[in-house]
Amino acid sequence: MINEAMVKLGKKRSVIREIFEYANKRKAEIGAEKVFDFSIGNPSVPTPQAVTAAMERIIKETDPVKLHGYTSAQGAEGVRRAIAENIKKRFDFEADPDLIYMTCGAAASLTVLLNALINRGDEVVIPSPYFPEYRVFAQKAGADVVEAPCREGDFQLDLSVLEKALTARTRAVIINSPNNPTGAVFSEETIMALARLLYKKQEEYGADIYIIADEPYRELTYGAFVPYIPKYYDNTLVCYSYSKSLSLPGERIGYISVSPRIRSAGELYAAVCGAGRVLGFVCAPSLMQYTVEKCVSVTPDVGIYKRNRDLLLNALTEYGCTVVPPDGAFYLFVKSPEPDAYAFCERAKKYELLFVPGDDFGQKGYVRISYCVETGQIERSLPAFNALMNEYKK
Ligand code: PLP
Repeated sequence: MINEAMVKLGKKRSVIREIFEYANKRKAEIGAEKVFDFSIGNPSVPTPQAVTAAMERIIKETDPVKLHGYTSAQGAEGVRRAIAENIKKRFDFEADPDLIYMTCGAAASLTVLLNALINRGDEVVIPSPYFPEYRVFAQKAGADVVEAPCREGDFQLDLSVLEKALTARTRAVIINSPNNPTGAVFSEETIMALARLLYKKQEEYGADIYIIADEPYRELTYGAFVPYIPKYYDNTLVCYSYSKSLSLPGERIGYISVSPRIRSAGELYAAVCGAGRVLGFVCAPSLMQYTVEKCVSVTPDVGIYKRNRDLLLNALTEYGCTVVPPDGAFYLFVKSPEPDAYAFCERAKKYELLFVPGDDFGQKGYVRISYCVETGQIERSLPAFNALMNEYKK
């Protein structure tokens, strides 16, 4: 007998993947130029030249046996040291290379961390809307998921809702800022209030509550300040990924950083190594580790995303859409002009406009539009958006 829960997950693709596959089918049928695919978060900004150059140099200059060989399970010492130094330089925070664990991207960081932290029956609090895979990862780690809706006006954390969601069984709260799908960046004031709340609850329950700070979009902001959460709350574990910041999603590289301020940081790091071991996430891709070591301070060109954001935000607002202007990431979270977001997405398909309903992100009545696409696609799509929104004015 095979695992039925896995069969179910394998057969039911995520709604994002479903629409992405539909987009590819339509492109084959009518031509790529005529399909406006805003479904998936695949960066459209090319990998920075400095990253490509570093990779080429590493391939040319490194002994191939070392280059393609295993590193230690938690990652090569050089890259862990470079990351810790970079954290110190950027955030004035003492990270410890021996508490950094290299992973195959944020998805791996999250599953490893959740498996390191969760005992059966523990709860993981997830502010909604959220990246849909959080639920799958947390449940497989044995956690019960508790959703805590954000404020609908600006999608900032709602501290009074969060307070009600925290119980003696809460082991972790996943904080994703800049946020997928809303683009919200949680303000310093919000993070400080969250830290105060969690310290109070830890005291009340006599147990540790960890923040898992999932930060693949940290670098993608349009002027907003993104607080470095370990400075505000000791029990913080950072999940980082180079998928979005360096446009390397297919290369699968990121890391976990366990804060040295955690009382039993060494034990927790051992649990991370143990979870990496049982899940088979040991030795992240070597070439990518050596590349990151050389490129820790390379930053992306967010100008293209900002141009796309402004273009789409201004046009959609003019056509009558309600959108909270995003401060980061590369998504617009738009209020559906009819209560059923699936129906809105279906109607949009008539115009070859493809985006995803918010329901799987834990927020009904909204759709997510990914603007990490060529600017030309956005320009070509505007008449279609206008025509779609005109249907609701009749
Ligand atoms: N977390 C969030 C919020 C994301 O949006 C994504 C990917 O889109 C991930 C994690 C997974 O990222 P990675 O490609 O690094 O595994």
